[in-house]
Amino acid sequence: MRVSVVGIGYVGLVAAACLADGGNHVICVDNDKKKIAKLGKGIIPIYEPGLDEIVKRNEAAGRLCFTTDLKEAVAKSLIIFLAVSTPSTEDGSADISAVLDVSDKIAEFMDDYKIIVTKSTVPVGTGKRIVELISSMTKQRFDYVSNPEFLKEGSAVDDFMKPDRVIIGADNPEVMDTLKQIYSPFMRKKNRIIFMDIASAELTKYATNCMLATRISFMNELSDLCEKVGADIEAIRAGIGSDSRIGNAFLFPGVGYGGSCLPKDVSALIHIGKVNDNPMSILESVRNANIRQQERFAKKIVDYYGIKANKATLAVWGLAFKARTDDIRRSPAIFCIERFLQAGMKVRVYDPEAMPAAKKQFGKLVEFSKESYEMLKSADGLVIFTDWQEFRNPDFGLIVQNLNKAVIFDGRNLYDPVYMKKQGIEYHSIGR
Ligand code: NAD
Repeated sequence: MRVSVVGIGYVGLVAAACLADGGNHVICVDNDKKKIAKLGKGIIPIYEPGLDEIVKRNEAAGRLCFTTDLKEAVAKSLIIFLAVSTPSTEDGSADISAVLDVSDKIAEFMDDYKIIVTKSTVPVGTGKRIVELISSMTKQRFDYVSNPEFLKEGSAVDDFMKPDRVIIGADNPEVMDTLKQIYSPFMRKKNRIIFMDIASAELTKYATNCMLATRISFMNELSDLCEKVGADIEAIRAGIGSDSRIGNAFLFPGVGYGGSCLPKDVSALIHIGKVNDNPMSILESVRNANIRQQERFAKKIVDYYGIKANKATLAVWGLAFKARTDDIRRSPAIFCIERFLQAGMKVRVYDPEAMPAAKKQFGKLVEFSKESYEMLKSADGLVIFTDWQEFRNPDFGLIVQNLNKAVIFDGRNLYDPVYMKKQGIEYHSIGR
């Protein structure tokens, strides 16, 4: 099939590459000229395991190309996927201006029947708005589909190729068949497409992310209680995760959730509730608990150094909001580092993939280190924010040797407190 994907970010590039790998001819469109020029030269602008290889393979096979020319892409495609950004606005609502802008242009350029598929996360009712917008601008026939994306950064290619489910919100059975066809390469073991109406598909995406955020905030709040009553959150996690009604996923306590999706989608659903006179009180608590968790962790560290905080140097491992991505959007690491800087602390950072993004964020405010051990020399403590594999079993001897004071603040509970004690390390983790 002839397909275009508009918005070549974490979602769009992965979707486009995987769809091309499924045998489709895919045109990638973005209004960021620099990004398209880079992609044209074979430079992948993001770090995502496995993506580089699949992009290059499909480009070489002539099934994947990159352009800023939306008009040409629309003319050459039957299906146009929208994967543009939908960031938070100040009041928490999702900014859907890019989605509407692209829809407007598609309507202007359409010269034939098209299927317009939204992958971006958009508030309920956006599909209806897009249908009204396009209908008001063109007499051409078209169908609209809501197909929210569930891939996770860090395992995005795998998630797209082997999805838990694909949600298709549509109202025309014929178009449902076309979408079934395009997803068939990824459904070989079992059909995992769930068809529903457009509004339900839009809301399913928010409901998923908000449920996940709720689990995390619940565990984080519980971890704080554990510290006060002398219980161990990791024991509790094992205890409740073994209940088949609860399960083990998304129960990890930590410094708070981040990334481009969970914080934004929680705020957006709270806003959707507000405008529909249906307060989402649980989610308001989830959001507050997440902010508190980050503040608590940062404060714990600043307070530890007390009046000497402005003389202390912290070494930081991990900037990305989670492992296997270079994404620092709404990362708790960024939140906490800002607090450290406000307290006058010196901060030295290392992340295996997120340094370029962090350099844009902090400029000269922090010191960037190319590796993880030398940076510990003359630092007064190590703070861990990201659960990168390489941080899980480090050389503790070298850590003790290099740090001014052998103290670790671990926002991910990577280590065993008893083992840390044996290593002579003062160890502060979450909820233990
Ligand atoms: P991103 O910021 O990485 O990429 C968005 C891309 O859209 C950018 O390359 C940007 O240049 C481009 N763009 C913006 N406006 C445009 C326009 N008018 N015309 C053409 N291109 C334009 O965003 P992302 O993380 O890929 O997320 C995209 C959407 O998918 C969002 O709605 C997000 O909520 C959703 N989503 C993201 C993830 C994730 O893990 N990142 C997962 C599921 C769903």
